[in-house]
Amino acid sequence: MPTETYGCRYCGDPWPCGPARLALLVGFKGDRVGLMMYLAVHLQRALEALPHQHPALIVGQILYWVPRRR
Ligand SMILES: [Zn+2]
Repeated sequence: MPTETYGCRYCGDPWPCGPARLALLVGFKGDRVGLMMYLAVHLQRALEALPHQHPALIVGQILYWVPRRR
């Protein structure tokens, strides 16, 4: 099995790792649209970097951690 991941450059966990998620939420201050646009750029990069991984898994990693609007 390939072990390639779109990893955090600091800790090596799949990006965004816990600290990276927190930093993104703080940095975008509730600007969910801006955050999703930012993540979309990373999603595109990850899909290109990991052509052998199932796209749904990559989408889950990059996008699905964002909290729902309350
Ligand atoms: Zn990290």
